[in-house]
Amino acid sequence: MRLLIVLGAPGSGKGTQAKLLAEYLGLVHLSTGDILRDEVRRETELGNQANQFMTAGELVPDALILDMIKAKLVLDSMTKGFIFDGFPRTVIQAKGLDRLADEVGARIDCAIDLVVDDEIVVKRLTARSGCSVCGAIYNDVWNPPRRAGFCDKDDSALIRRADDSELVVRNRLHVYRQQTKPLEEYYSHRALLVKVDGYGMTGQVLARILISLEASGTNDRTQV
Ligand code: ADP
Repeated sequence: MRLLIVLGAPGSGKGTQAKLLAEYLGLVHLSTGDILRDEVRRETELGNQANQFMTAGELVPDALILDMIKAKLVLDSMTKGFIFDGFPRTVIQAKGLDRLADEVGARIDCAIDLVVDDEIVVKRLTARSGCSVCGAIYNDVWNPPRRAGFCDKDDSALIRRADDSELVVRNRLHVYRQQTKPLEEYYSHRALLVKVDGYGMTGQVLARILISLEASGTNDRTQV
């Protein structure tokens, strides 16, 4: 089983790119943010524990995240592999993932680091909305829906994430620098870090990622 990691600050586009890559490479897309938001919506025990951290833009405790990832890996153990989006986010989580990978006989192929300037992130996130039904993402500035407030694909209402206010976005960026940035060194030490410029249109960024994966020998759709 192969594991790909997409690192990158909030608003770097890691969710969008991870989804596209998962489709292209035939891997399971696993977004810890999406899973947690779903738990919060369903008011599960995990959701109730995670909610206060997410609303403030802080990280959910490592132990909760690692248990959640372990459950997903075990549940989907027959799959070709996973693309992690928003995980790992601390060195403790990265070490936990190494242990889990050993346990299930998986290998980490690479950690793709999407690099985007902080001010662009703030502009992207504070103007972002998403479809409440299909999850399609829009941006008031760069990619507005045809009819304001409604999804182009299914006409459902668009919603904004509670943590996309400027204050919380700035805190998420601060938390990223403090707790997630060290992972760049963690993976570059093992020659697994692939840095990609995250600025530009979705298709351009995806093309850059695929070229970088090719260069690092990990862009192989037939790998198992
Ligand atoms: P973004 O990267 O844009 O902040 P995510 O959807 O990845 O968005 O995460 C949203 C929130 O969910 C984070 O601010 C954090 O509170 C929580 N979260 C997601 N993934 C993790 C993780 N691996 N560890 C701890 N908290 C997480």
